[in-house]
Amino acid sequence: MKPVNQLLSATGTTVFTVMSALAAQHGAINLGQGFPDTDGPAEVIQAAAAALRDGRNQYPPLTGVPELRAAVASANGRFYGLSIDSATEVVVTSGATEAITASLMALLNPGDEVVLIEPLYDTYLPVVRMLGAIPRLVRLLPPRWELPRAELAAAFGPKTKAILLNTPMNPCGKVFTAAELAFIADLMVKHDAYAVCDEVYEHLTYDGWRHIPLMTLPGLRDRCLRIGSAGKTFSLTGWKVGYVSGPAALCSVVAKAHQNLTFTTPPNLQRAVAVGLGLDDGYFAGLASALAAKRDRLSAGLAGIGFAVLPAMGSYFVTADFSPLGFVRDDVAFCRHITEQAGVTAIPVSAFFERDAPGHYARFAFCKQDVLLDEAVARLRRHFRGQGSTARLTAAG
Ligand code: PMP
Ligand code: GLN
Repeated sequence: MKPVNQLLSATGTTVFTVMSALAAQHGAINLGQGFPDTDGPAEVIQAAAAALRDGRNQYPPLTGVPELRAAVASANGRFYGLSIDSATEVVVTSGATEAITASLMALLNPGDEVVLIEPLYDTYLPVVRMLGAIPRLVRLLPPRWELPRAELAAAFGPKTKAILLNTPMNPCGKVFTAAELAFIADLMVKHDAYAVCDEVYEHLTYDGWRHIPLMTLPGLRDRCLRIGSAGKTFSLTGWKVGYVSGPAALCSVVAKAHQNLTFTTPPNLQRAVAVGLGLDDGYFAGLASALAAKRDRLSAGLAGIGFAVLPAMGSYFVTADFSPLGFVRDDVAFCRHITEQAGVTAIPVSAFFERDAPGHYARFAFCKQDVLLDEAVARLRRHFRGQGSTARLTAAG
């Protein structure tokens, strides 16, 4: 029979699914795939339940129910001072995953170049390639995850159509600074480029770090597609409700992509997310402070075992160097090893690089109940104390 699509058949199953399956197989505590183990706000769930019963269960409008579009527009004003027209400048999608794909579809023609920053989320590269566009990769490296400005400038050129920027950043927890964003903004204006802004962790920043949407920088209002996710903002990752905010000229094309991908997103969940976006400031501050405490708890536990834990200013994740523990094989082997032998699952950071990745970092999700975080740390401590010598560790498999 004739070959199926080359790019997709060559794409592996996502590392998050692979590691969650391995965790289930070994009964391991899953600090791999990033999802909270408690439900989001009761008001939001109650609103979804009520919205199932009031007779609005047929196709909603293509770009989203009016309640959610209005709520997204007003959240843009409330949190960032952005003025967004709910009728023409918001598109609701089935998760940020769809929003990212739809935004790239809206902007790119075959042969266009797209600047991407490693470590990167695993849908970016396959989608850019499926569209026939050319990725130009720039990498941030641990332990500092600093933006290499000269390399970034060199990645932009006459064919650059867009940059895809994720801040707060998965997996490293970096929050881009105003100065870094200004540097990116200059390059975009100089090269007449757009930005797809993956801001799913916009409300998950810690220690006084504030998320700054690239879209708020001078000259960028009409060059950015800003993406949020109800999954992250309301701890309801299974709901898959995302939203794109941007200029009408771009959103109208994102809507065309959405119409061909999914057409619409469940109306009941959309209406509940609208309630969520209207929650008071206490909710958003409470979410961030609760997660900051969990980050501190897990980081301290891992550091106590001997990991070199890197700081995380945002997101659900901490990254940690496991080489001080004496484990000399790579991060994929390490994450398998701790899943199978210690009963704790993490994600290898190399999964976020195309090639030649740093090989001794693991990503741990801290968006879990304290008892689970404590049990994970206890299991890892028992395991590594029990291992004794480096020789035994490396031979352990
Ligand atoms: N972007 C990043 C950086 C993510 O970590 C995730 C993970 N959930 C997504 C996009 C996808 O978000 P959603 O679940 O809303 O599709
Ligand atoms: N965003 C989540 C993470 O980074 C996982 C999403 C997924 O499983 N595709 O862990």
